[in-house]
Amino acid sequence: MDKADAISEVKQKLADFLKLSSRRNTPERNQLLEVIYSSEEPVSAEELSHKMADDNRFRISRATVYNNMLLFESAGLVRKVFIDGKVLFERTDRNRGVIRLICGACGKEVEMNNDKMRRLISEMRTRRFTVMGWVLTLNGLCAKCSADLKRKQKRLNKTDNRK
Ligand SMILES: [Zn+2]
Repeated sequence: MDKADAISEVKQKLADFLKLSSRRNTPERNQLLEVIYSSEEPVSAEELSHKMADDNRFRISRATVYNNMLLFESAGLVRKVFIDGKVLFERTDRNRGVIRLICGACGKEVEMNNDKMRRLISEMRTRRFTVMGWVLTLNGLCAKCSADLKRKQKRLNKTDNRK
């Protein structure tokens, strides 16, 4: 399927969803969907708002973009991702997976992509189940907390030696 076909298909899905949920289908919503489906990488509501103003001359606030992203999310067309503490949105037409690293000490979350893991999961056989995406959580310590811990341990060792 080429890009234009993919976009018109996703626009049809949006139209169906809006009809089902008794919401208005507006040129802005269609354009917003097109912008996000033209982005290869996850984008923030702010970036989307700028892109809409630059490419399509639609002025929509970041808040309106955000609300529409939540709407697209409930339609299954967009998903929310957290990268470097920022909320970003991305298209769901790719069987995308993400590895989420969570620091147990400070709670910091970082997401990373990993082609090897993605391949592994796409080759995995899931009986009577269609995988749409996945999240793998790795628990551990971030660089800062890990360094803090080492420093604390060193200090503890010193006081032990003095005894
Ligand atoms: Zn940490």
